[in-house]
Amino acid sequence: MSLVILIGLVALLHISVGSDTPCLNHGGICQYDSNTCSGNYISNLCSGSASRRCCVTSSDPCAAIGGVCQYDHLYCTGSYVTGKCSGGATNRCCTSHHIGGTSNSICDNIQVVSRDTWGARGPTHITPLNHPVHLFFVHHTDGHTCHSEGECAGVLQGVQNYHMDSRGYNDIGYSFLIGQDGRVYEGRGWGVVGAHTLHYNSLGYAVSFMGNFMNSLPSEESRNAAKALAQCGVSKGYIEGDYSLYGHRDVGNTDCPGDSLYAEIRTWTKYNYTHSATIH
Ligand SMILES: [Zn+2]
Repeated sequence: MSLVILIGLVALLHISVGSDTPCLNHGGICQYDSNTCSGNYISNLCSGSASRRCCVTSSDPCAAIGGVCQYDHLYCTGSYVTGKCSGGATNRCCTSHHIGGTSNSICDNIQVVSRDTWGARGPTHITPLNHPVHLFFVHHTDGHTCHSEGECAGVLQGVQNYHMDSRGYNDIGYSFLIGQDGRVYEGRGWGVVGAHTLHYNSLGYAVSFMGNFMNSLPSEESRNAAKALAQCGVSKGYIEGDYSLYGHRDVGNTDCPGDSLYAEIRTWTKYNYTHSATIH
């Protein structure tokens, strides 16, 4: 084989293989433009014939695949995809943040109900919470209680509407909520700053028992679920192993989480109240 033919062959291969990288960098997929594209076709980003074009489904490539850009040391309920976000290499696209994927947050001993399952509205804004944190707060909603997944879904929607529409929060305030069925319902979830405990939202997670627990205790299943949730957070790296647990009233002028529940959590091993001034 002569050198001329060899060079020609290499050049031909190069042309025919080409590269789809420019399209991928735009968050698109190369396909023949006779196919349906739910977004827009962009020319000259794909290899091959001119009719093979780049289908980009959104101007925001991460949003186009249902994700949110965030720094990848933060918890992601789905998986991280590279090349979808601007900025540094560690700013990556988390594909199922608050879009129903709680699989990575599940610990065997607790039943977590995802936002999609209870019918949550999307957050208007997400502020990432750096982990691990060392505080875990217990609240009650001081509202309706619930005993089944269906009943709890309605209560959760009411709490979320109240927090977003009346109080102007970006989302339901709590990290997680618990029903009398012993299920844990995903609120803001892991890795997200909540709106639950004034001055401490960036330092800890909060679980809220749905109901009013001034004069009665929540069910044993639900109490066990709260403890297991905190332990799950530790095992997943979101909460420090030597974390401290408090009631909302320990750091705020409130009856929350109710007299009965407050007396109960003070018996829990992780309860660590000495004086609010020492909580920081
Ligand atoms: Zn509270």
